[in-house]
Amino acid sequence: MFYKIFPHTPVEKKENRSKLLERPGERAGSMNDIARAELRKYMDQYGRDHSIADLTPTVCELCGVRLPEECGASAIASVVDHGEKLFGGAGLAEKVLLFCPDACADHQRDRRPDVFEKIEKIAGMRIRSTSVMPSVTPVCYGSIFSGTSPAVHGIQKYEKPVLRVETLFDVFAEAGKKVTILSVNGCSIDTIFRRRAIDYFSFRNDEDVHRWTLKLLKECDYDLVVSYMTGYDETAHHTGIFSGESMKQLELAAERFARLADCADAVWSCFNRLLAFVPDHGQHPAAEDQGTHGENLPEDMLTSHYYRLRRRR
Ligand SMILES: [Zn+2]
Repeated sequence: MFYKIFPHTPVEKKENRSKLLERPGERAGSMNDIARAELRKYMDQYGRDHSIADLTPTVCELCGVRLPEECGASAIASVVDHGEKLFGGAGLAEKVLLFCPDACADHQRDRRPDVFEKIEKIAGMRIRSTSVMPSVTPVCYGSIFSGTSPAVHGIQKYEKPVLRVETLFDVFAEAGKKVTILSVNGCSIDTIFRRRAIDYFSFRNDEDVHRWTLKLLKECDYDLVVSYMTGYDETAHHTGIFSGESMKQLELAAERFARLADCADAVWSCFNRLLAFVPDHGQHPAAEDQGTHGENLPEDMLTSHYYRLRRRR
């Protein structure tokens, strides 16, 4: 076993929930501190209060699940507070759907505010965050789903080894929750989170990923679903970040997010639920017809996550 298993403690009361975020094993100079400092560096550089890695502790706190061991990110107070008010008392989120559209970040929003305003309207909450370096997909999603920094999770360049630190998926599986990841064959999300007690669905294209996400939501009882979309990133790399084809992919990302929201409302109406729009980084032009990313530039690093919480019927 390459990660430790801890017994899960069901959390009923609010005062107990904050205990999940106390880290009794932490010491100065711990992995958690190293991660926190590395994530903080980019937040300070860009004057933002949040990191993309805050997603994991935020989802853990909303659902009453303990944090991954090396987590150095912080739960987003505005999202957690909103959840507590909405769900009431000790209410927790019971179902989570995370839509991961690659490279649909703030530089893309600046060009197409209409598309992202639609996303923000569906979600309700926009959390302005910073990415991590190098701003490439396996490094960023490694941080997003472990709550830790690249130096700690170990992916520090474009490579796709199986992540060896604990992730959101490990702690959810340990808590008895059913987890699945749907993505395109061989992409970062498809490869770096393997060897967990979760289900993997790997397809040849985005259309099938989306179609099967809707199908699984309707027909299965997963508690945490991750659905990836490569379309904008792929198209922007090969046609330019603001080409007509790339713009169509941004519109498609918003349409899919809307469909996922409708589907989650229909099939999860009896559950407190979270839907989030979770990109990894942005892109900047390498040439007129070629996009790229991986640098410490605002175009690559300024990334927003969008959270949508709904109370059960
Ligand atoms: Zn890319």
